[in-house]
Amino acid sequence: MSEERHDFSTLDLSGEILDAVKKMGFESLTPVQEKTIPIMMEGHDVIAIAPTGTGKTVAFGIPMLEYINLKDSRIQEVVLAPTRELAVQIGEELEKLAYYIPEVRICVLYGGQPIARQLSKLKQKPQIVVATPGRMLDHLQRRTADLSHVHTLVIDEADEMLNMGFVKDVCRIIQAVPAQRQFVMFSATTNQDVLTISWKYQHDPVNIVIEATKENRPQITQYVVPAERENKYERLLYLLDADVYNRVMIFANTKDMARRLSERLNKAGYQTDALHGDIPQSKRSTVMRNFKKGKFPILVCTDVAARGIDVFDVEAVINYDLPQENEYYLHRIGRTGRARRHGVAFTLLSFRESVRMDEILKYMQSAPTKLDFNENEILCHEDGSPFFENI
Ligand code: ADP
Ligand code: MG
Repeated sequence: MSEERHDFSTLDLSGEILDAVKKMGFESLTPVQEKTIPIMMEGHDVIAIAPTGTGKTVAFGIPMLEYINLKDSRIQEVVLAPTRELAVQIGEELEKLAYYIPEVRICVLYGGQPIARQLSKLKQKPQIVVATPGRMLDHLQRRTADLSHVHTLVIDEADEMLNMGFVKDVCRIIQAVPAQRQFVMFSATTNQDVLTISWKYQHDPVNIVIEATKENRPQITQYVVPAERENKYERLLYLLDADVYNRVMIFANTKDMARRLSERLNKAGYQTDALHGDIPQSKRSTVMRNFKKGKFPILVCTDVAARGIDVFDVEAVINYDLPQENEYYLHRIGRTGRARRHGVAFTLLSFRESVRMDEILKYMQSAPTKLDFNENEILCHEDGSPFFENI
């Protein structure tokens, strides 16, 4: 198999898009982009399965922008995403791709934001709408959004969306767009719901499967750090005090834990903020934006708040709690090592939890390295050498 990567100019793309991609700093196509872009541009329905961090947003974003009719001010293209944060992020990536096509109007709709504000955005006649399913359905039912002229529908993170119980909403939205439209689904995994939706609503879909190879798999080195309940917080501080990572995401299992942990860290002088379901939407967006901009280095979050979020350069992910669902582990550590950068993931693990960890790892292609503290409380590799050079 050839691992050679091709330039964006090998595809038949407009100058505006090529310039935008260059401005975004991308040099070559990722495999999912190389395969998906030409097929989507030919108008086929697509079901694309690709690991996280392989550039799926650009893979559907480019054909969407190439296919937009700037003279038509009706909604032509819709992207559905499972969470608010992801919808916002997709909107931002599309805006970047459309940098040299200022006539394109993109609108992001999600729950938690005042309807009035969304209505004024809809009045500006967006051609592209990025939305969470619930809010999209809301607007359909209020007749504040008309999808009867949509020619392209994209579902991002289809597996997660359907897992979250959005099946009915998604089906109703699909039924609100014309039958003769292009319908594209992206997913990190295949599951029965994804296949069912594909079977019901896609026409001769082209299947694209990108295996997690060494090449495109995010480069994440995983470590297990022993910690019992009574010293877990101290061990977390040990990792943070190494002062090696400028942007860290810490995962907790509950809203309450995320909130408390963030407060405790703040009191101890660490700059953190928290992201979980109880944070009001306006605040969540600000927190995300500030974290992305590097205004504070540590984000404490729950799984729901973090799915699919691409923060350019998270250097380390720390699992403060072992995830309740096995597949969350992969999603969590996938927040680092994005787009072929190198990332580190630590899991704080009690003796009792090691059985659960083995369960989780059954689904992984690579195993974490075990670290341990020596008698002087220094974190060491198995051969006894210190993990952090500066401690
Ligand atoms: P996925 O949806 O597959 O998880 P994303 O679309 O979120 O991945 O992309 C992950 C990161 O890779 C983003 O920061 C994105 O800007 C970047 N990226 C996308 N395409 C390329 C490319 N061709 N070259 C380098 N980086 C890219
Ligand atoms: Mg994505």
